[in-house]
Amino acid sequence: MKHINLNNLLIENSLILPKEVRLGIVSLPSGLSFSEKIKKIKKQNKHANMKFTFSNPDYSGKADKFEWANSAIVFTFDYKQSKQNSYLASKGSGKIAAFAEQDYYQPLKKITSEFENLFSKLNYKFYTFIDNPNHYDRTFFEVSGLGWQGKSTMMLSPGIGPWQLLGTMYSDQHFEPTQSQNYSCGECNLCQISCPTGALDEDYVLDANKCLSYWLQSPETIPYDIRSAVGNRFYGCDECLVSCPPGQNNNLTITKNNSHEVDLEKIIISINEDLLDAYGWFYIPKRNANYLKRNAIIALSNNPKNDTYKFYLKHYKTLSDDLKIYILWGLWKLGKINDIGYLMDKEDNKDLKLEYEKLKSMTS
Ligand code: SF4
Ligand code: SF4
Repeated sequence: MKHINLNNLLIENSLILPKEVRLGIVSLPSGLSFSEKIKKIKKQNKHANMKFTFSNPDYSGKADKFEWANSAIVFTFDYKQSKQNSYLASKGSGKIAAFAEQDYYQPLKKITSEFENLFSKLNYKFYTFIDNPNHYDRTFFEVSGLGWQGKSTMMLSPGIGPWQLLGTMYSDQHFEPTQSQNYSCGECNLCQISCPTGALDEDYVLDANKCLSYWLQSPETIPYDIRSAVGNRFYGCDECLVSCPPGQNNNLTITKNNSHEVDLEKIIISINEDLLDAYGWFYIPKRNANYLKRNAIIALSNNPKNDTYKFYLKHYKTLSDDLKIYILWGLWKLGKINDIGYLMDKEDNKDLKLEYEKLKSMTS
């Protein structure tokens, strides 16, 4: 059977790939399946109740999803920056991780929609998965030769490292497949020793129960030890990406960039709808902006201003109970939990009173 050369097809149809986009192609059926791998992680509870591809592993991990499909095209979008942001934040400020500074899925979606337009014009059948819980987006990455899975569990490519997003398009056409390569992390373990919580201690396995990025997107109550480890992070954690040598620049410059630094007090007293507008591309559980305010309280308590204590006292009464419980922890973190008896005398909520007593008992 004669296979179509995809690059030639793109040239013939004047579809120009941006330099940040790379393609890998796998012939189908592939015989691959990641369902058991996903189920194993779920069984060991390393997914920490994350839904996404864990909701239906039999389908999400299945590579050969469509009987009509003869090829899978993997798209990668490289969002590596030429500079690295400084971890230092002014007092009262929080950090947004580099991977979340913008909605990097938008340019990836733009290029796949151009492919969809072309394939529609040519009467090709196709189906696209991008950031979709029904498809494990790493399925065809390694076998297509684009790169390898690192010990950080991220998909890595030479010169790009983990700074990339993936998309998959199934097609009924027979495209010429790309060749798999023999890449690996070798003896490197920098992501493992850089992770602040030990979430990557087991090679190639992420323990989401310990991952700061996971917790800052979780609707669950964040444990005390994780809150302290969050430091000044408002959303996301970059440690395992920044430490990864294949993704580092030779001429690295570290800049103090205010664009990914947020005023935490401002966030705590913002209108929720405004926060959803400002950070629309973040994963926010139930689209409830109180989870962003919760993150802001934790980061502010770890990186307080001189008057954060007064700020907490002033706003405690105006906040909802789900946030007050974090303010109490913040007051404990500031060493002020024994000074707020008068405030708690007026508190009616039993759970908050219990939390207050618990935190008081944790002071020496
Ligand atoms: S995102 Fe942060 S906490 Fe999570 S595995 Fe990477 S380094 Fe560890
Ligand atoms: S830091 Fe090293 S071990 Fe970790 S993913 Fe990158 S190359 Fe692999």
